[in-house]
Amino acid sequence: MAENPVRAAVMPEPGAPPEVRRYPLPPLEPGAILLKTLASEVCGTDVHLWHGRLAGVPYPLIPGHVSVGEVAAVHGEVHDVEGVPVRVGDTVTFLDVHGTCNACWYCLVAKAGTRCPYRKVYGVTMGADEPPGLSGGWSEFIYLKPGTKIVPLAKNVSPDAFIGAGCGLPTAVHAMELARIQLGDRVLVQGSGPVGLSCAALALLSGAGWVGVIGSPEKRLAVASAFGADWTTDVMETTVDERLRAVRDATRGYGADVVIEASGNPAAVPEGCQLARDNGRYVIVGQYTDNGDALINPHLLINKKHLTIQGCWGSDFSHVYRAMEVLSRFGRQVDWSALITRRYGLNDVAQALADVEARRVVKAVIIPD
Ligand SMILES: [Zn+2]
Ligand SMILES: [Zn+2]
Repeated sequence: MAENPVRAAVMPEPGAPPEVRRYPLPPLEPGAILLKTLASEVCGTDVHLWHGRLAGVPYPLIPGHVSVGEVAAVHGEVHDVEGVPVRVGDTVTFLDVHGTCNACWYCLVAKAGTRCPYRKVYGVTMGADEPPGLSGGWSEFIYLKPGTKIVPLAKNVSPDAFIGAGCGLPTAVHAMELARIQLGDRVLVQGSGPVGLSCAALALLSGAGWVGVIGSPEKRLAVASAFGADWTTDVMETTVDERLRAVRDATRGYGADVVIEASGNPAAVPEGCQLARDNGRYVIVGQYTDNGDALINPHLLINKKHLTIQGCWGSDFSHVYRAMEVLSRFGRQVDWSALITRRYGLNDVAQALADVEARRVVKAVIIPD
């Protein structure tokens, strides 16, 4: 075998064009798994990584934090969360977060593992040159360190459906947990990217009586409708006042019981406060990176309204596990594989990043072969 047989797409440093590099196949330590990558996703996080907008990222980096692969090798006995052994040939995914310590104040007292300072994330905070390497999904193989949390794909969930849902579905599952949707609630989603679209689908599965989506472009809004949204509007072609009026009209004048922000635009936040009804709930999940400030009148939009505002950042193992259950149970109702607009090889990741950034695609998928 060649000395460095594994090809991977690498971001050498922020802003630099991605390039394909070759790496050795590291020997497996006990408890480690080697995954042959079937598909990995390109999401907004990768665009931020490309522009150097996330702090504490060790470049050069092999991106791809959510991936699906076939187990090529296992060293010793490794089990999934239900105690089932992981075997060569299984199709699995894994929790991108590796190494929350379960020993610090955040892990044990605040029970906020997403804030653990020892948290490492495949494809985001594990450098390409950091041993053992192969730490992201834009690579022919991924090295899963001992202790990585494995989730086997359910028998009726295809790699396409899983990667079409991508990291957006577990994030949306987390947002739903915090949104506490009641049967018959009127739910308004701001944003029609993968997170917003999954939120719209999950709100309906949670029993919402009405779901509206504000987003763009038209192609994404068409997916929202296909996912069952009752009402959509193009944010680029309407004013705040027009949207407020339309949502009030659709909710008998009250506003939405629950608003979910999944747009990433700070200006969406004061608007979302207005779109929610008095004593409603507002979950903010789209402001994953710092896109700037927004001006809010706290008397009118928070106090007087009795508005509950809940931030939601990242996802944990339970959300990935539940996402798999949702895909298995409702995959025939909601076709998450339809989110995949285009597939790219390792040589085309620059194009994939540009397409995601320009919103030319809903979901870009990397097939490393
Ligand atoms: Zn992602
Ligand atoms: Zn910790």
